[in-house]
Amino acid sequence: MIVAIDGPAGAGKSTIAKIIAEKLRFLYIDTGAMYRALTLKVIEQDIDIKDTQRIVEIAADLSIDLINNPDGSLKVFLDGRDVSRQIREPRITKFVSDIAKLKGVRDIMLKLQRGFGERGNCVLDGRDIGTIVFPDAKNKFYLDAHFKERVKRRHKELNVSGEDVSAQDVESDLQNRDSIDSTREIAPLKKAEDAIYIDTTNISIEEVVNKVLKEIKP
Ligand code: C5P
Repeated sequence: MIVAIDGPAGAGKSTIAKIIAEKLRFLYIDTGAMYRALTLKVIEQDIDIKDTQRIVEIAADLSIDLINNPDGSLKVFLDGRDVSRQIREPRITKFVSDIAKLKGVRDIMLKLQRGFGERGNCVLDGRDIGTIVFPDAKNKFYLDAHFKERVKRRHKELNVSGEDVSAQDVESDLQNRDSIDSTREIAPLKKAEDAIYIDTTNISIEEVVNKVLKEIKP
C-alpha cells in the first residue's frame, strides 16, 4: 500500500510522513532527498548546472539508498556514502529545483521511486507522488501552510541543524523553489484531484498525524 504526501517545502510533509510510516510500520521514502543527492553529486563533480546532458548521465549512473533507522531518522546514501547531512546544506537547496525540473532527471527518478514503492508498504513524500509517481494510490494527502509559517519552520529547522542562514535567505529560497516547482513543465507541484488537503498552519503535528491516520483506507 502506498501513502502519498505532497506539498511545498515547509508544509510539514517529512515530519508527518516519518511519523505515519513509523506508526503504520511502513517504509518512509523521502523523494526530495533523492533529488538532493543527485544535486550534491553534480556540485561535487563541478558540472555546469546548464549542462543538462551531463546531469542526466550522472542521474542514470546514480546509486541512492534510503535507510530507515529504528529511531525514526532517515539515512541517505549516495554511491555507498552517507550524505544525510550534506544534502540539507543551503548550497544544495539553492540548485535542487533547477535540476529536478529536467525531464531526463525526472524520468530516472520516477523509475527509482516506483521501484522503492514496489518493495512493499510505503509512505512517500514529495511534489508529484499523488499526481505522477503513484496516481492510483488510494491514500493521497496534500499538506500546505501559509508562506510565512513555512519560512519560520524551515528557518528553525536549519538553525537547529547548525546552518547559519538568515530568515531573508530562507524566504527567497522558498519563493524561488515554490515558483520553479509549481510552474515547471514536467510533473509540477500540484494537488492531485483526489488528494485530501490539509492546511497545517495553525494545527499541531499531532493533530495533522491524527487527521491523516483517520483518513487512511486499507
Ligand atoms: O522535499 P525537499 O524540499 O527536500 O525537496 C527538494 C526539491 O526536490 C524540491 O524543491 C523540488 O524541486 C524537488 N522535488 C521534486 N519532486 C519530488 C520531490 C522533490 O521535484 N517528488
